[in-house]
Amino acid sequence: MLIEVDDVSKAYPQVNGCESAAVVENLSFAVAEGEFVCIIGPSGCGKSTLLNMIAGFIQPDRGKIYFDSRPINSPEPERAVVFQEATLFPWMNLRRNIELGLKAGGAEKAELQRIVNESLALVDLNCSQQAYPHQLSGGMKQRAALARVLALQPRLLLMDEPFSALDADTREHLQDQLLKICAKRRQTVVFVTHSVEEAAYLADRILIMGRPPNRCYASLRIQRGQGRSRTDKQQMSNILRLRAALKDFSRQLSDGNC
Ligand code: ADP
Repeated sequence: MLIEVDDVSKAYPQVNGCESAAVVENLSFAVAEGEFVCIIGPSGCGKSTLLNMIAGFIQPDRGKIYFDSRPINSPEPERAVVFQEATLFPWMNLRRNIELGLKAGGAEKAELQRIVNESLALVDLNCSQQAYPHQLSGGMKQRAALARVLALQPRLLLMDEPFSALDADTREHLQDQLLKICAKRRQTVVFVTHSVEEAAYLADRILIMGRPPNRCYASLRIQRGQGRSRTDKQQMSNILRLRAALKDFSRQLSDGNC
């Protein structure tokens, strides 16, 4: 397994100072190399907290998270994150934005140029490489943020609602581009989303997270026919299964029966 989350719990101090509020509790799950796992659940259930722990930005209070059998203690380029907002430097053109992480990593010049060209091609942005962020659409900015992360050639791509601010067409286009990249690179992805349709379309497997106080976790494997479709019977059945699981799950939550 590439990632192993082993009985992890995390709490934050509450705003009033004294008590701690548990956000993730006794969660265990694993992600295989090449797998696309979506995390879905209501707002505030701890999806970003879990992603931030896998990224190494924050540490669990209890339990451990392993990456390739090594405990995660800090962020590393092999576990790269794409956020909801594309965080590009406004004073640098797109190409320089992408080069930046590679330069910090000490890549040699010819190799750097090759990797930047390849990353730009993967997201279809070759023609816009001289443009500055304010000259790009929301979808282009998000593709640029993805290119910057892909240039680092991470073994794990962590994505926190990366397409949620985009219009429906752009979102679907980027979902398809991401899937092409994953197929080409056999990329492992952990992807946080609110959208049942997005999760059912992208994921091999979905982790459903519940909210306190009766927190539950469930894992749902997505069935595929030949290739992906947004409208075929198999996809409709996946969406219905996921909705049913979420509904069942929230009923369990309200019954206090996990
Ligand atoms: P989700 O991504 O599912 O919306 P989050 O992981 O962002 O959930 O947040 C889960 C809960 O933890 C929320 O109640 C949020 O307010 C709280 N929280 C998140 N980050 C912090 C923090 N740094 N300090 C205190 N509370 C936090």
